[in-house]
Amino acid sequence: MTLRDDVEGIDAAILMASKVWEASGHVENFTDPLVDCRNCKARFRADKAEKNKDGKLMCPECESTNVTEARNFNLMFKTFMGAVEDSAATIFLRPETAQGIYVNFHNVQQSTRRHLPFGIAQIGKAFRNEITPGNFIFRTREFEQMEMQYFVRPGEDEKWMEFWKQARWDWQLSIGLDKNKLRFHPHGEGELAHYAKAAFDIEFEFPFGWSEIEGVHNRTDFDLGRHQQFSKKNLQYVDLLNNNEKYLPYIIETSAGADRTMLAVLCNAYQEDKANERVVLKFHPSVAPIKLAILPLSKKPELESIADKVFKDFQQSYKIQYDDSGSIGKRYRRQEEIGTPFCITVDFDSLNDQAVTLRHRDTMVQERVSLDKLKNAIDDKFKNWK
Ligand code: ATP
Repeated sequence: MTLRDDVEGIDAAILMASKVWEASGHVENFTDPLVDCRNCKARFRADKAEKNKDGKLMCPECESTNVTEARNFNLMFKTFMGAVEDSAATIFLRPETAQGIYVNFHNVQQSTRRHLPFGIAQIGKAFRNEITPGNFIFRTREFEQMEMQYFVRPGEDEKWMEFWKQARWDWQLSIGLDKNKLRFHPHGEGELAHYAKAAFDIEFEFPFGWSEIEGVHNRTDFDLGRHQQFSKKNLQYVDLLNNNEKYLPYIIETSAGADRTMLAVLCNAYQEDKANERVVLKFHPSVAPIKLAILPLSKKPELESIADKVFKDFQQSYKIQYDDSGSIGKRYRRQEEIGTPFCITVDFDSLNDQAVTLRHRDTMVQERVSLDKLKNAIDDKFKNWK
């Protein structure tokens, strides 16, 4: 976010008035079609279940077609504000972070003196009463969203939609996801949400099949229009660069889940290297939780003092772990299993040649690097990572 000079950050409220969710359309439309299996009593989503060859919905648990009609089930979690639990006190936990951005659009635009186009981004928790959570952290009831709403002049929305589709695709590649495991899924007529003019999911090929990790949506002026109508506050933008023209901006939204991205990154990185009897998480360095490990070959004070110095030198720039327990082979395996790109080993030769061994996680290649060139060598390797 801070790398883009056209995007501001925000941290909006989690509990929001029911009026906000009436305006957004969530009270009316944010539903999943819920079906019960009469045979095994399982409950499932009609839109995610398979049909048999006669076109009848099958229970995902027992494959019975003896199932109820679909009923619409609202996914928002409700609670009450204040002492009285009546409908006037009903509020909702946000099912998406986007609406917190829309209701703050004017505050942000005016306090930052932004001209269009510009974006507002937010990372934060969202809550959905999912009927069928599962597939590890793919679908949970409490999850972290990473959303950005980009406000543009009407008529420029299609151009910006293309821009953000490409930018988000490139970002997914930049965190190391294999391009053969990524695809766009355009929403067809029947699939489009109530607010959308166009929508594309970015899907990843998980072990359980292709599934959405992010959505890029053209939401038009639907959201600001509805919030303006329900709040009776003028949300028009005054375009000082275009004869003070007044209009409601169109919105291009990029909406990703941190948890699903994490799961994609894990599935993408996991490899069983049978030839070398090891399990490796081949994380791209940008997402590896630990970037470097420093491993003194023995606990002798002479080696530890070199290792300590390297640790302190690198601590400011990289998340680094110090490990001096167990055989060196075991320590390499530990780091491979958590996806650390490089290990630095201090051995007895280091005392004489003032150099250490740098070991690459993926190739297992080891090279000797003198201590005074170590920082540059590592910076270079991260910069030119393949
Ligand atoms: P699905 O069809 O899988 O329920 P959705 O189309 O409802 O997903 P969006 O409303 O577009 O999802 O939400 C944007 C992003 O938030 C998704 O791409 C996903 O990464 C994340 N997300 C949505 N629901 C969940 C959930 N229950 N658990 C984890 N992440 C989620």
